[in-house]
Amino acid sequence: MTIEGTTIAAGEKRRLSFPLYETVTGVRSTPVTIARGATDGPCLLVLAGCHPGEYSGMVSAIRFAKELDPALIAGTVVIVHAQNLPGLDARSGHLSPIDGVNMGRAFPVPGERAEGTGNVSHQADSPTHRAARAIFESFVRECDAVVDLHGGEFFETLPPNIEYLLTGNDELDNRTREFARSFGIEWLWEVPTGSIPEMPTYPGRGSVALEAGFLGKPGVFFEVGGEGKIDWSLVDLTVRGLHSCMRFMGMAEGEPLPVEHRLLIGGHVYFAGRGGFCRYEVEAGQEVSAGERLGYIFGFDGETIEEFHAPVDVVMTNVGTKGAVNPGDMLFVMGNVP
Ligand SMILES: [Zn+2]
Repeated sequence: MTIEGTTIAAGEKRRLSFPLYETVTGVRSTPVTIARGATDGPCLLVLAGCHPGEYSGMVSAIRFAKELDPALIAGTVVIVHAQNLPGLDARSGHLSPIDGVNMGRAFPVPGERAEGTGNVSHQADSPTHRAARAIFESFVRECDAVVDLHGGEFFETLPPNIEYLLTGNDELDNRTREFARSFGIEWLWEVPTGSIPEMPTYPGRGSVALEAGFLGKPGVFFEVGGEGKIDWSLVDLTVRGLHSCMRFMGMAEGEPLPVEHRLLIGGHVYFAGRGGFCRYEVEAGQEVSAGERLGYIFGFDGETIEEFHAPVDVVMTNVGTKGAVNPGDMLFVMGNVP
């Protein structure tokens, strides 16, 4: 295996600098760890830092990379430690400060042409798009499965869950479901396009997990953490999950973690319709019955100006933490209990 002119031998683990994009001050590169097993096997791609405020995922990738012993691996593990460098430098949220782009939607959509669809967002050539394209062409195309380590943003909390999207190809979608189960995380959230009425086009094209799927490779989002914190128990949980996945893929000895999974399918997202102060009355991971109040917004006179209620029986997959909110802020994300 050769990356950027460096050949990784069987049984070797290397950390390389992988160029992502260029700015006026030069080429910016991210650390990539490659552990090539002593014996042949599949290639697992682990991505971190797409959303640069989601630190638990990035720290999990660091620990996972440090602990990996290539002598005990069949196949290859590739870990891209930080996909969104400008965001990490600036400690910004999900939009890159260098071009305002959400990297979670900036990956190439093979076959889509701007002239044909009128959708120029996936053909843009700004640094975030270039970084996504570099990762896609060099690593996503070469691997057998992708796990993208995410976690709650600066202003949200969430229960650990594996989120996956569907391509409409039953064979691949079933493989993605099995892959999602292999991490030993209780909550699985399956999100087909159109299954969140408030965001009818979600997930949309350009997310790495979905675009990997269109290349025939299972891809999932591993969601842990939130509020810009590094939660070490969640780091442990994530590293255990990655090892479990390797056992599922036949890259390590043993069986995946046994877990009784709980499945959510599609859901709802509530945004603030008014500006004011927000009281959140539910917690991430909480099961909420149809009609139950989730929280409310109030103004300077203390009077409630907007209330939020669960539309059906749901589990809270994200709960916002902003005390003061503006219209459009994402407050409550719910997965439907099937
Ligand atoms: Zn994220």
